[in-house]
Amino acid sequence: MTAKFFLTTAIDYSNGEPHLGHALEKIGADCIARYRRLRGDDVHFLMGMDEHSQSVIQAAAAGGVTPQAWVDRMADTFARYWRELHCSNDDWIRTTQPRHAGAVTAFLEQIRAHRPNDLFEAEYEGLYCTGCEEFKTDAQIVDGHCIEHPTLQLVRTKERNHFFRLSAYGDRVLELIRSGEFSVEPAIRRNEVLRLLESGLQDISISRQRQAWGIPFPGDPQQTVYVWFDALINYLSATGFPKPGFERLWPADLHVVGKGITRFHCVIWPAMLLAANLPLPRGVWAHGYVQWGGAKMSKSAGVAVTLSEAIARHGPDALRYFLLREVGFDGDGDFTWEQFDARYTSELANTLGNLVSRVLSMIHRYRGGTVPRAPAAQPFDDEVQQSLAAYEKAMEGHRLQLGAARLVEVATLANAYVDSTAPWKLAKEGRDKELDVVLSNLARTVVRLAILASPFMPEKARAIWDVVCPGLDLAPGSFDRAVGEIEGRAVGQPPILFPKPAVERA
Ligand SMILES: [Zn+2]
Repeated sequence: MTAKFFLTTAIDYSNGEPHLGHALEKIGADCIARYRRLRGDDVHFLMGMDEHSQSVIQAAAAGGVTPQAWVDRMADTFARYWRELHCSNDDWIRTTQPRHAGAVTAFLEQIRAHRPNDLFEAEYEGLYCTGCEEFKTDAQIVDGHCIEHPTLQLVRTKERNHFFRLSAYGDRVLELIRSGEFSVEPAIRRNEVLRLLESGLQDISISRQRQAWGIPFPGDPQQTVYVWFDALINYLSATGFPKPGFERLWPADLHVVGKGITRFHCVIWPAMLLAANLPLPRGVWAHGYVQWGGAKMSKSAGVAVTLSEAIARHGPDALRYFLLREVGFDGDGDFTWEQFDARYTSELANTLGNLVSRVLSMIHRYRGGTVPRAPAAQPFDDEVQQSLAAYEKAMEGHRLQLGAARLVEVATLANAYVDSTAPWKLAKEGRDKELDVVLSNLARTVVRLAILASPFMPEKARAIWDVVCPGLDLAPGSFDRAVGEIEGRAVGQPPILFPKPAVERA
């Protein structure tokens, strides 16, 4: 019986090229999606674009094109990067798509039917951040600027808006998070959200006046739906809502978002769903930021490294691995070229790549390219099994940094096993049974490594798989089936997985 797993990432504003911060989120979510498929879940993985930001109007005007042409171009750019980075999303939602506009209208009408008093009109005046696309409270302003966007000017805005009675939902959302029914992780983010809820919520404006770019507010064409309210509904519109059958996917199992937008995903979004009488997502995972020299990498804060440069350095799979291994998927982490090069050389080329190469070479040299039949070797097999269990535990908890560390740990164990058993000595001394045990254990470990690596480095994992288990499926739903099937099978020639960089870099 396979379990449905509906996974989403945040949708990105169409206001510039994607950078490493965007990439970390998509790669991390893709790693979770691929891991879930491996364990046999029926994964539906959604990514997309948030296209009704007001900054689109300025960007399009500056580029001399219509807003629609601008967002079309940006969607192509983002999608091209995500393909290059091997993102395996099943769907790609854009908030300018008709399926989305229809869902937003239906969603508001459903709130109006279910909780008519929770939508109302009022005058609003406040300081608006165009980077966040939201009004800022005093606590979110430092030295006259938004905390997230210290280089942008806040705009004083006064207008008549439609409001959502968010204040009516604080206690219920608090209760759902505390009970774990709606999970917010990691714990540091859950605690932030709980403190925010405990301090009480204010009602929020959910429309903007006289804006040409956006979804018209149902029943009030003078107003457009506020971009965040519009954007959050993407997760639901992608399920086909309000058409029958949307419940096959909804509720989402996991929303992956950045730590800066937990208020939207862990407070406003659940309240919106409660108001519309719809089930809440099961959980939110809020990752940290990619930093450069301790500062957040973003368009407004300055991008130190372009995504193209980072991909070109050692290829897309190495970048995926490095971001998850070094920066991690819970807290913030620094990106540096020195660390990228160091991990590429020591962990990928010299540990994983070297192991695969020497194991396959020895099977060809000593056994004519066929994996010998032999039992598990102790204590080596036990140690590998322990690392496998630790890998699964880490991956189940979305601790991708730990998962990547376990992957390297298994390869390190296997290299040490080669060194301590010295197969070349066993061959020279004609100790054939012992040599069979070593080679067969190493071959099984390489198969396991291909499986463990596949959520992180799908292309490299495939390359390993194709030489060590040609003709076998990289099997979803089973970590061990292929491992038991390779004895007596022929292996291919060792691939060059992680070539040395062509030129020395400064
Ligand atoms: Zn801001």
